[in-house]
Amino acid sequence: MWKKTFAVGIAAVTALLSVSSCNSIVGNTAAQSTVDSLGNPIDNEEALVKKDTVRLMDLLDSLNKGKIQFPAMDSINKVDPKVAKRNMRDSIYRELNKKDKHIYLTFDDGPLIGSSAIDSITTAKNIKISAFLVGKHVNMSKRLKRDFDRYMNNPLVDCYNHSYTHAGNRFHAFYSNPDMATADFEKAEKDLGLKHKIIRMPGRNIWLFDDVRRIDLTSGQQTADMLGVNGYRIYGWDVEWKINGLSGKPVQSVDEMYRRIRNMLGNKSTLKPNNIVLLMHDDMFQNKKGQQLLSSLIDSLKQHKDYKFDFIADYPVKY
Ligand SMILES: [Zn+2]
Repeated sequence: MWKKTFAVGIAAVTALLSVSSCNSIVGNTAAQSTVDSLGNPIDNEEALVKKDTVRLMDLLDSLNKGKIQFPAMDSINKVDPKVAKRNMRDSIYRELNKKDKHIYLTFDDGPLIGSSAIDSITTAKNIKISAFLVGKHVNMSKRLKRDFDRYMNNPLVDCYNHSYTHAGNRFHAFYSNPDMATADFEKAEKDLGLKHKIIRMPGRNIWLFDDVRRIDLTSGQQTADMLGVNGYRIYGWDVEWKINGLSGKPVQSVDEMYRRIRNMLGNKSTLKPNNIVLLMHDDMFQNKKGQQLLSSLIDSLKQHKDYKFDFIADYPVKY
């Protein structure tokens, strides 16, 4: 049944695209006033309409099993395409708003001082979190080996690959040799006994999975593609929270982070609608002040009955 609904949805969006494109030809004279030095139009109306439609298709894709009321094909041709598109977007938003929202709390660079506190908070709050681990940290001390074991044995913590050496924090040099970089991730996977082929690249906000390929800095591109070919999925983040680990002073307050998460879910500005990936680092939570802030953010988010905490392995949840 959903297949039929989905097919109608695709047809309706495609119809909107063609109607809008026709319309934008009419409006092209005005749009052409914005041109670059070579005379090519910059982000003209047609490009914007296309961009908007691609976004609608993406939103629709996340609802591919849902039941959504689409306007009849006849009516699309009769009404103003802008109005039709707005109606379409509103119905997709309405459907998405009825569904659960999925929050991925991700912690990078562990095990570090801070990891054991995160492990305890997760257990106390009974929520799932995702840890992107650095292989070499496990062997730096007995304490960190113990904290790594705690993560691995906690069913509420899922562990993923953040490389073996963390690129020695020389990211450009590291990614200039994709073979060596790939070998570094493979070493972490083997040493730590990781069960997922899921990576977050140090120093880069890169997404590469299914049909998604988002590269923030080109120097990581070749390594990302090689990892992709080798069967890895790579995840970046939608929003980052920064706290000074030693002082426990946050760059963004709990309230600010809470509002950003709520707003991004509300206006569908995350990479995948109704799914939000939050980046934090283990060393942010080495002191009591930082730990209290983390607990407090989790409590704020838990007030929403439709907010669920999920593992990155389940990203993105569709309906
Ligand atoms: Zn890192």
